Order: sequence, then C-alpha cells, then structure tokens
Amino acid sequence: MTKKLFTPGPMNIPQTIRVQLSKEIIHHRMPDFHKLFRQVRDKLKYVFKTEQDVLILTSSGTGAMESSVINLFNAGDWVLVINTGFFGERFIELCQTYGLRVVRLDYSWGNTYNLADVKRALQKYPTIKGIFVTYHETSTGVLNDIQSLGELIKETNTLLIVDAISGLIVHPFHFDGWHVDCALSSSQKGFGLPPGLAFVTLSQKALARIEQGTNLPKYYFDYRKYMAYAKKGESPFTPSITLIVGLNIALEDIIERGIETIVQEKNRLRQYTEEKFKQLGFELFITDPSIRGNVIVPVLSKKEWQLDLTDLTKYLDERYNLQVSKGQGKYSDQMLRVGLLSDFTEEDIDELVVRIEEYLLNLNNEVK
Ligand SMILES: *Cc1c(COP(=O)(O)O)cnc(C)c1O
Repeated sequence: MTKKLFTPGPMNIPQTIRVQLSKEIIHHRMPDFHKLFRQVRDKLKYVFKTEQDVLILTSSGTGAMESSVINLFNAGDWVLVINTGFFGERFIELCQTYGLRVVRLDYSWGNTYNLADVKRALQKYPTIKGIFVTYHETSTGVLNDIQSLGELIKETNTLLIVDAISGLIVHPFHFDGWHVDCALSSSQKGFGLPPGLAFVTLSQKALARIEQGTNLPKYYFDYRKYMAYAKKGESPFTPSITLIVGLNIALEDIIERGIETIVQEKNRLRQYTEEKFKQLGFELFITDPSIRGNVIVPVLSKKEWQLDLTDLTKYLDERYNLQVSKGQGKYSDQMLRVGLLSDFTEEDIDELVVRIEEYLLNLNNEVK
C-alpha cells in the first residue's frame, strides 16, 4: 500500500520519474552520459534563474551546505549567520566546525529576520566576508526575503550564501536578479526526486574567491574539481547516475509546467490547507501571512486538547497510510508540519483532515 507523504521531503515521487529510475544504468565516462549531463546542467539554470553554471554533487543537502563553507572561506574568517530555525542553526554549526568566526542573529521560531539588524551587524563587523541565510526554513515554514540581502551586499566583497534546499521551485527564486553568490538545493524537495543529489550555483564574485583558493581542507567537495570535469560533461567522482537520469525528466516536467504555475498552485493548496486546519481548531504557527512558505503548513494543537501528537501521527500512518511530520526541537510535542511538496490535490487534504477529525472525536468519546 502506498503511503501519502505529507512530509517536508522526501515526498511521493511521480510515476513518470519512478519509471526512469528503474531503467538500466548508463556509464558516467561515456558519450551518452556526457550528453545527458550537459542537458541537465542547462535545465538547472532555468530553475535557479541564472546564466551561471550549476554544479551537481552526489550528497544530501547538508553536503552542499558544508561545501559552501570550505570552498568560499578561510579559517578565522568572520561571517554572519541569519538564524531563523533548525537549518539556520546548522549553518552556525558548520561554520564553527571549520573555525570560522560567527556573528549570529537569532530570531524566535516562526519569525523572519530584521534587515536593520543585518545592517547594524555589517557596520559593527566590517570584515564580515559572508552572510548565510535560509530561504525557506523547513523547521518553521518561514520564507525569508533574499532580495533585500542581495541589494545590501551586491557592491561589496561580502558573499551571500542561500540555503534554497526546500525553497526552490515552490517559491520564486532569482539567483542572478537577487544578487545571490551561492545557492544550494537538493533533489528530495521541490524537484520531486529521491534524496542523493545536491546543487550549487556560484556567482562571478564567488568564483573569484574560489580561484584565489581558501585554506580549509577539502577533497570530495572541492568545487574546482567539479568545474574542471564539467567541461567534459562529467563529474570528478561517480555520480548518482540513476538520479541524474530521473532529474532530466523531473526538470523537463518543471519547465513544461512553468515555475510560476507551480508556485501559484502550491500557494492555493497551502491556503486551502490553512483554512481546513483552522476549521478543525488548530492554530496557524506563523502569524504573519506574508512570510508563510509553501512547503509545509505548521499548525499547533490546542493546549486543552492535551493531544499526544506521536499517537495521532501513528494513528494516521497505521490505519490510513497518511504520514505527517511533527515539529522539530521544542515544538515536537505541539506542532504538526503538514507537507505539501507531493503532488497533492484538495481531495488529499480533505482526506487527511477527515481522519484527524475522526481521531479527535474518538478521543472525546473516550474521555466521556
Ligand atoms: C532538507 C533541508 C536541508 C538538507 O537536509 P539533508 O537531510 O541533508 O538533505 C537543509 N536545509 C533545509 C532548509 C532543508 O529543508
């Protein structure tokens, strides 16, 4: 029985892609792969809205995050991390692991950053060499504004590194137009693929920094190797060939539907889901509608319900094959993150809502 994945990624993989994933493998040092690799890299430019090359790594998204730190910075460099949740925290950990000096701007979960704070930090620490920020923060559902940060640093030597891992495709993203210097994504979010591939786009400013070389240790994730091999349509190490075959079809599909259309559809589905959960009595976690992203709908259960969310999610999964994620960190007992990345319709949302309603009713009857 197939499960419906109302999760923040991976999500259900469309049939058109699953067919591709079951094909016989091709070899990554042969002409048919070279052709495929070039096609895929061209199509990726559309997704990032860039004229720049997109590097393809075989790793999960965190590998791409780590690669940005070691390729763009030196030990001891000052950087600013805008921390709006679990994944902002991950950038801080990565930077500290490699001996970068981190100025952190922490915001409470469910909120976005404040541009005035960023300006102040840049004035106070003029040697800051990079700003790290999460586009869509998957722990909270908040979509952070990237364009304003790009405007702020475009004429400076500071690099803007954006974790667009879950944000890409289901929200607008303009690598060139927003003056982003390094954008990261991975296959198991908006692309609709299994996990295993990560993508990195680099601006001219970032490429200049890479050319100078940095002193942090790197081997597998050394961008210079990926750039050199890309010229012949290859990657330096055996890539996840099967996923690249799937990626080609996924990108074709995305280009055919158009990102604007996908964004609109996800917007509508998100608003529909918000309404349905409000009617059930849940509270929307993000109070400011203008910063709500389309990847998840984070909702809080009412205190007086005394809901055991582990029990609820188990009920949905075991009885109905509906898998919903709980909150992360301190919200694990209180929050559901209803993931919308799978190709869901309003009927799928209705099905989920009916089952939750049924669970709540049963609970009431037991109490009485
Ligand atoms: C999924 C995700 C990641 C990467 O996680 P991996 O498990 O390493 O793929 C990073 N940042 C955000 C915002 C994400 O949603």
